[in-house]
Amino acid sequence: MDSRKALVAFMATSFIALLSSAQEPTPVASELAPLKYKEIPLGSIKPRGWLRNQFEIMRNGTTGHLDEVYDKIMNDNGWLGGKGDGWEETPYWLDGAVPLAYLLADIKLKEKVLKYINWTLDNQRPSGYFGPLTKWERENNSAISLETCDKGEDWWPKMIMLKVLQQYYSATNDARVIPFMTKFFNYQLSVLDKCSIGKWTEWAQSRGADNVLIIQWLYEITKDKSLLKLSSMIHKQCFPWSEWLGNRDWVINAATYQNDKNWMSRHGVNVGMGLKDPAVNYQRTKDEKFLKDLKTGFADLMTLHGLPMGIYSADEDLHGNDPTQGTELCAIVEAQYSLEQVIGITGDLYYMDALERMTFNALPAQTTDDYNSKQYFQIANQVQVSRGVFNFSLPFDRSMNNVFGMRSGYTCCLANMHQGWTKFASHLWYATPANGLAALVYSPNQITARVGKDNQEVTINEVTDYPFDNLIRFDMSLKKDVAFPLQLRIPSWCREAIITLNGQRLRTEKGGQVITIERTWKNADKLTLQLPMEITTSNWGRNSRAVERGPLVYALKLDENWQMGQEATEGIYYSVTPKGNWNYGILETIVKEPAKNMEVKNVKPVTANFIWNLSNAPTEIIASAKKIPDWKIVNGTAPQPVTDRTGVYKGKVEDKVEKITLVPYGCTKVRIVAFPVVK
Ligand SMILES: [Zn+2]
Repeated sequence: MDSRKALVAFMATSFIALLSSAQEPTPVASELAPLKYKEIPLGSIKPRGWLRNQFEIMRNGTTGHLDEVYDKIMNDNGWLGGKGDGWEETPYWLDGAVPLAYLLADIKLKEKVLKYINWTLDNQRPSGYFGPLTKWERENNSAISLETCDKGEDWWPKMIMLKVLQQYYSATNDARVIPFMTKFFNYQLSVLDKCSIGKWTEWAQSRGADNVLIIQWLYEITKDKSLLKLSSMIHKQCFPWSEWLGNRDWVINAATYQNDKNWMSRHGVNVGMGLKDPAVNYQRTKDEKFLKDLKTGFADLMTLHGLPMGIYSADEDLHGNDPTQGTELCAIVEAQYSLEQVIGITGDLYYMDALERMTFNALPAQTTDDYNSKQYFQIANQVQVSRGVFNFSLPFDRSMNNVFGMRSGYTCCLANMHQGWTKFASHLWYATPANGLAALVYSPNQITARVGKDNQEVTINEVTDYPFDNLIRFDMSLKKDVAFPLQLRIPSWCREAIITLNGQRLRTEKGGQVITIERTWKNADKLTLQLPMEITTSNWGRNSRAVERGPLVYALKLDENWQMGQEATEGIYYSVTPKGNWNYGILETIVKEPAKNMEVKNVKPVTANFIWNLSNAPTEIIASAKKIPDWKIVNGTAPQPVTDRTGVYKGKVEDKVEKITLVPYGCTKVRIVAFPVVK
């Protein structure tokens, strides 16, 4: 090598050395993908109108009082240092009661939930371990340390408590939460080789994405890189939901095999929770393959196991798309929560539409007016609510899975059902990266948030009877003019939305997009979004048809006959039978030209006392139908009449055309929603 070449080589190496010493290059994998939308602090969104009434019912019912009426939470609670419930049900309840307390700014409920939060925060072990005292700790009068991690207990209930604490922090900024979580995650990182996620239960292994979610949430605050190492480690120790959702075999096999092999991978609640797995993996790796996996998996899930009310069968397992299959309430509320997270991470409108569909249809149908009773499994075509075994993948011995009751079926839903409406409300708005606001799902509420380059406070009153009405008005309340982007979702079902500002038409927009309105907003500005709703029909299992209009799915209106019963172990329960005939097929003309052959009637105003039930149903659709005399109840359910590929039922049909009334699915307890079609 001559001297000149040597000098160049020397300079090149020094330059590289200089580069690496001056600036520690950050590996791509150590930074999270930026959120498309960020959560708004809990308590900034206040429910209004019908939604507020829903929360007042819940406050007066089990959400506000489960600790007073439910033995398991009442007695010697493990999360308050006692020997009672130390597993999932107490954190489940808190996971809905905490957001309710802050959505309603309810002092009493805040005091109530704070007892459990305080006990948890105050009793973290020096090692970082937390939660109810373990058997070993009591017997040995000792605390779980890094060395004795194997004397700890199930990771799973702690994952729920982390979600509770995250929401509590979002509402209060309590300075104890971040160090508490940091310490616990350090503990996890230190012991996971020895005490893996699946050491105690498969529940933890199947639900680890919730653990990962909170770890990555904390990373956004502390930027502590060891958190990313931990979340990647937990991902590896848990069920590979992303892979399953992406590669299709899993969902196909679940449609065929109902055996006890791998049933945890088909368990509908686990599946609902697993939906967030590809999103959190994308967030950590920025690998877009995960987003594709989720899109593929969610679409497959709804094709093979989907039901018209916007959720998949889960009785308890995925169980195909026959309209007589059941869905567990926990599967709905967990799928909702996953989608709320998926929306923030991906910004994908597809999941916003899906979230509204399950919230406004599946969710309200499964609880009673007072929110004190629920069904473990609801059935899409539910021609009666009764005791029975039915074609469920988990038919409990006492035949109580389908009735309404507080303690009927497995009790997870009684504890977990409180997060459905509450978290939906706290995700009505998100913050945008450009310091604006985005309304991505709709319901009446008022938000106060900071926007624009100077973080100015704005209050927006969202006035609407949505999902029953198509008009949404945003009333601005500002101290001074402020420029910020306002983003609005135009749902896919809407052909063309009309946007007006202070009475003047601003623009029209096609459905299936999130639009941005950039403006210097003035006090008392009124922006209206009109989302015209058309009647359509959609195709479901057994070649059935459902009638839809906007975000709502409609079902046959059937007057209800309620009967109370009592079961020795599971207590008081309610059965419901219909008063009229239900065995109708809708006319083929309806499917061909739905808008022309059905009539929409607004029959009742949506008042501030609105309850999701038959007597409050604000909208009706009148359709033409004929009775199918051979369509009868067999062993408690109504097996779907067979149709050929043309979709028309070829059996005996009565000649007489009758007018039937359809009401929003969420207002029904007994119904037909997946109709056979007749000529
Ligand atoms: Zn459940």
